[in-house]
Amino acid sequence: MSEQCIFCKIVNKEIPAEIVYEDDSVVAFLDIRPVSKGHTLVVPKKHSNDFLSTEDDVLEALIPEIKKIGAAVMKAVGAHGMNISTNHGAAAGQVVFHLHFHLIPRFSNDNLMPWPHGDSEPKNRQELAEEIKKLLA
Ligand code: AMP
Ligand code: ZN
Repeated sequence: MSEQCIFCKIVNKEIPAEIVYEDDSVVAFLDIRPVSKGHTLVVPKKHSNDFLSTEDDVLEALIPEIKKIGAAVMKAVGAHGMNISTNHGAAAGQVVFHLHFHLIPRFSNDNLMPWPHGDSEPKNRQELAEEIKKLLA
């Protein structure tokens, strides 16, 4: 629990939220400023600031929860697809520093624009892949 954390406050029922699911390890609630109808946040009850600082056992429990809740959200709004994501760090758009996954229902022709893709040179890709491989070896 982090005292100032808005999602800890939702977990602890200190502030209201439209909770759609809760069990021992997670709470899921509707995003207050939805990207699309049914936009839901899945939040572990145990506070961690972000994805990379979260303990493995928390993440292991979280993925099946996201799957279960995501399927219900899609069905509830009749979505054709769904973006399932977490923003890691302010540079990636993270605003609330309590780990959460976004479930963003998608609809054919909803005109939500994905990120633009760029081009890359094979040589640069190879060098970069080597750097990452070294760190993972
Ligand atoms: P992020 O930018 O990944 O940190 O996402 C934070 C999300 O939390 C945003 O989509 C906000 O709309 C949402 N949010 C912030 N405060 C609340 C709240 N009190 N209840 C529900 N959603 C919230
Ligand atoms: Zn928190």
